[in-house]
Amino acid sequence: MYVLVVNAGSSSLKYQLFDMDGEKLIAKGNADRIGIDGVLEHQVIGRDKTKTPVPLPDHAAAIKTVLSTLVDKDAGCLDSISQISAVGHRIVHGGPWLTHPVMVTDESVADLEKCMLLAPLHTKGHLQGIEGCRKAMPGVPQVLVIDTSFHSTMPPKAYTYPIDWDTAQRNYVRRYGFHGTSHRYVSGVANEYLDVPADKSKIITCHIGNGSSITAVQGGKCIDTSMGFTPLDGIIMGSRCGAVDPAIVPHIMEAEHISPDEMADWMNKKCGLLGVSGVSSDMRNVRRAIEEGNERARLAVDILVYEIKKFIGGYTAAMNGLDCLVFTAGIGENDELVRSEVCRDMEFFGIKIDEEKNLAWRSLPVPGDISAPDSRAKVFVIATNEELMIARDTVAMCSMA
Ligand code: ADP
Repeated sequence: MYVLVVNAGSSSLKYQLFDMDGEKLIAKGNADRIGIDGVLEHQVIGRDKTKTPVPLPDHAAAIKTVLSTLVDKDAGCLDSISQISAVGHRIVHGGPWLTHPVMVTDESVADLEKCMLLAPLHTKGHLQGIEGCRKAMPGVPQVLVIDTSFHSTMPPKAYTYPIDWDTAQRNYVRRYGFHGTSHRYVSGVANEYLDVPADKSKIITCHIGNGSSITAVQGGKCIDTSMGFTPLDGIIMGSRCGAVDPAIVPHIMEAEHISPDEMADWMNKKCGLLGVSGVSSDMRNVRRAIEEGNERARLAVDILVYEIKKFIGGYTAAMNGLDCLVFTAGIGENDELVRSEVCRDMEFFGIKIDEEKNLAWRSLPVPGDISAPDSRAKVFVIATNEELMIARDTVAMCSMA
């Protein structure tokens, strides 16, 4: 069974094609610069990547181009589009309306439309991607897999902000959490390898990338997560500030004469590693600056490590224990120094890593167990795979339909 996973943004449509018999990735790419000047990046796994300028006036044209590329006799990998049995869409925000995977129907699309209130840019891209697929592949079942849904098991004390009740309710303000598909995937893999039964295990997953979030997963269910009403909450990120004293917001708006939109832009794009270091939002550049003796770059990474440690401490307290700590995403998978610094002086929490394994985790079998033999908690490095998770959910939903 072939499943096409679509991640539609406002001006791009990323895709991955899986053969779910054996869960094999067959092809992937990105129809980018939709509505601008159109570029198609495409790769059949095992062959070279291509990058071709193509007119992509809208999302429907983008999906048509992707489909015709997949069946192209030179660039493609399928004999016919009819081989694609289902489409799974990555949805960033389901709000309080979409809390588990659903088939695309007029009803679920109407629920997704409500999410325009909470995440307008992402939702608009998703809706256009879904409409494009409905037009280009009529009759092919489509599934919405929602990033926020893994966090819908949080108890009220974790998702309620201590603000005026009625105002919060009127405006749907609560902690939603993000990166849920990644946290679900890596905690699921971790659970397969722990000695503790999956319905009892206590896992902390650290998705540390350009955007970062940390989640406490108890008995396979999310009980708390660091991102909140928006992906701005939580720890320091590439260019996002994470949680700060809320009084800073009106203070800077007044002092710098900036509007709410400008303030949101500033908190999302000018802060985080970039804001503190003054160098870059990209960890690799920040690392280079540290090597050159840049003290603000060092401070930015010190803040990152310190904040991750504090979440680990807090979530270990929330779960009354810890069986496993997982690192994933761009920084979590690639920056051994962050892992090493986070796990330093954490014996109190039962965390101790083997530095040699930490350097060479890619040569270890899944789940990348880098814990020292005397570490009470396991420490795993697991490459995330949100697209595979979406493809699996799509198959599961289609077999139920
Ligand atoms: P996104 O949140 O956009 O999906 P990623 O998960 O791809 O981001 O993570 C991007 C981050 O990972 C960037 O800060 C990048 O610098 C960092 N990164 C990638 N490779 C390395 C590396 N080898 N060493 C340190 N950081 C890395």
